[in-house]
Amino acid sequence: MQDLNFWFITGSQHLYGEKTLEEVAAHSKEMVDFLNNAEAVKPYSIIFTPVVTSQEDILNTLLKSEGDKNCAGIITWMHTFSPSKMWINGLKIFNKPVLHLHTQFNEEIPWDKIDMDFMNTNQSAHGDREHGYIFTRMGIKRKVIVGYYKDEDVLKKIGRWLNVAATVYLGKDLKIMRLGDNMREVAVTEGDKVEAQIKFGWNVNYYGVGDFAKKVNEILEEEIDKIIEEYKEKYMISDEILNDHKKMYSIRYQARMEIALLKMLEEGGFSGFTDTFEDLYGLEQLPGLATQRIMEKGYGFGPEGDWKGAAMLRTLKMIAKNRGTSIMEDYTYNFEKGNSTVLGAHMLEICPSLSDEKPKIEVHDLGIGGKDAPARLIFNGKEGKAICVSLIDMGNRFRLIILDVEAIKKPHDMPNLPVANVLWKPMPSLEESAEAWIYAGGAHHTAFSYEVTAQDMIDFAELLDIEYIYINKDTKINELKRELLINDMIWKLK
Ligand code: MN
Repeated sequence: MQDLNFWFITGSQHLYGEKTLEEVAAHSKEMVDFLNNAEAVKPYSIIFTPVVTSQEDILNTLLKSEGDKNCAGIITWMHTFSPSKMWINGLKIFNKPVLHLHTQFNEEIPWDKIDMDFMNTNQSAHGDREHGYIFTRMGIKRKVIVGYYKDEDVLKKIGRWLNVAATVYLGKDLKIMRLGDNMREVAVTEGDKVEAQIKFGWNVNYYGVGDFAKKVNEILEEEIDKIIEEYKEKYMISDEILNDHKKMYSIRYQARMEIALLKMLEEGGFSGFTDTFEDLYGLEQLPGLATQRIMEKGYGFGPEGDWKGAAMLRTLKMIAKNRGTSIMEDYTYNFEKGNSTVLGAHMLEICPSLSDEKPKIEVHDLGIGGKDAPARLIFNGKEGKAICVSLIDMGNRFRLIILDVEAIKKPHDMPNLPVANVLWKPMPSLEESAEAWIYAGGAHHTAFSYEVTAQDMIDFAELLDIEYIYINKDTKINELKRELLINDMIWKLK
């Protein structure tokens, strides 16, 4: 992501004369320098482009930025007035994300000095409206951010959007390795992989689990020793386990799978993978600890063949810069009038980036799948605001479902449940949220993140022109049902 840039394009026209245009360019340069030094904008470079003043200028600049492989999008700003008919030809060929930054070079009106020269140079209040019209007229999606460009909140908004735009831009290089197919008979993890590649750019392809098993068996004991040392340093392993030959064998087998998986992911240029416990031919355990470790490195993962889940997790991890983000499953409920909660977990695979503590490694039987007892990392999730996100295939479109939740401290220990877990209150309440989620058709798997915001995901959906449903503290069931009905109509017409 750090190699990516965004071009900063300032629009104007010839009417103002040389002197004003020079001033416009100098101001733009100063703004670009400021943005490049702003913490919120990192790691992206903002590229200053000469002020565009004609149809040819605009077309050429947009063609060039379209052709720059490292350019993830553009930021436009009309310091002065730039008649929008000049933008039509350029915008017709442009396909990258656009941020329309509606700002000013000056923060406040210089009350005692303001004169007509100042007014001629500082016209974005109306120049940007002409600019906005042509996007709306042409039906082009873009993000509008309004405010003084040095303001902390504005900078944060810019930084977050650049991050989402960069993630969308890099989506076309996202490759998911599927080990085995979907869990048999499950509907929601299915979907149109061809459409996903057209829409998101995701390459989702199948690889034989036997190839993985072969690689697992080729890993050398010395390679495993090194990883075990890392486990001992990063996680807690009790003396009892360290002295238990059988359990240590189980942990070493997960380390073996971790190394083999990482090799396959690196060799194939994959940034995520799926597996399924119904297809583990040639493997002794379901990857548990191995998968958790790989997620911790930033890879996407979907259990039971859930490739949409894997791609979405990778997407959220990119936006989150790999902090506090994991695959998740609604596991079980605690009904308590007015205060119901969801216990989220999975059979094994929750990313330790959610952890509130030093995770511990344990070995327990799975009770399903008929393989050996797998080693896994166990921990409690952090407290705090978070979101759950699910992408489903509606047949004629993808729908993204976003839910606000608040992770809380568990009121009791669960000494007999040996999996990583998080307890949360979904908005507006468990009862309403689950009702809304189920009407919307949301999956049982989600990408869960403390770092990614609902606004990030709305921007993601808008950049890709997919449907989204946002369940939050203001959600009313009847209104949501109406929204679903209207969306069905809209997407049939699209
Ligand atoms: Mn599952």
